[in-house]
Amino acid sequence: MLLKLKSVSKHYQMGETTIKALNEVTLSIKEGEFIAIMGPSGSGKSTFLQVASILAQPTAGEIFIKDKDVTQYDEVERSRLRNKEIGFIFQQFNLLPRTSALDNVALPLVYAKVGTKERDERAKAMLNKVGLGDRIKNTPAQLSGGQQQRVAVARALINNPSIIFADEPAGNLDSKSGEEIKRLLIDLNKEGKTIIMVTHEPDDAAIAKRLIMFKDGVIVDDSKIKGGKEIAAKSEKVAGNGEKVKAQLKSKKNKVEKLKRTKNKLKK
Ligand code: ADP
Ligand code: MG
Repeated sequence: MLLKLKSVSKHYQMGETTIKALNEVTLSIKEGEFIAIMGPSGSGKSTFLQVASILAQPTAGEIFIKDKDVTQYDEVERSRLRNKEIGFIFQQFNLLPRTSALDNVALPLVYAKVGTKERDERAKAMLNKVGLGDRIKNTPAQLSGGQQQRVAVARALINNPSIIFADEPAGNLDSKSGEEIKRLLIDLNKEGKTIIMVTHEPDDAAIAKRLIMFKDGVIVDDSKIKGGKEIAAKSEKVAGNGEKVKAQLKSKKNKVEKLKRTKNKLKK
């Protein structure tokens, strides 16, 4: 098994109250899977990504990567393992601002102690792969949002990681750039990369093959993805009250507008 969580919890102590951001989550992820993570705001999606990518340590439970128990790894061991096995794509790109695309992409190789020449060659090849071969000298400010996210994808891939984590990768992009990033993720999965992606858009989730829904820090649904419509329905069901209230407000607004229209007609 590539990644396994056994009864993993992440609790935050806020004064007197304990926030159970993740509560005894158990799941297994095989190589080559493409997983969409959905759930209402505050349901624990980002916490799950942080804990599963061994960025944050769980409060309880066990984590296995390639069948190795990594739960007790210290900071140094974790960052070494992350550098080797894990790529992360953030909603806000998280690139170094005054640094060229090439150097941004090559950075994980600096930590991996790869020599300058090989670093540049590999970073160049990776930027080519994401369609930015002609923009390697540009800094993030000289690139569009979509291009910046492609640099971030290249950086996530540079160490040939086993798992790519993405937290709303298209969340800050216009629809065309979002489509490009989605296409990249689809292609990467076709090449065999395992992808775990948080999204709140049913259309984005539809590019994955397995859907995991969170609510209040627990997994409430884990199933194969068939189509976008089914995802939207599930997402609404899990969202529950918040979405219901929104729908009610909308229907109220529609009723008021209808009344206004009728009134106007009567005036005429
Ligand atoms: P999501 O990504 O689904 O919106 P999060 O994983 O960010 O949810 O948060 C889950 C819950 O944990 C929320 O109630 C949030 O307020 C809380 N939480 C997240 N990070 C922290 C933190 N560093 N300290 C305290 N509470 C946190
Ligand atoms: Mg989040």
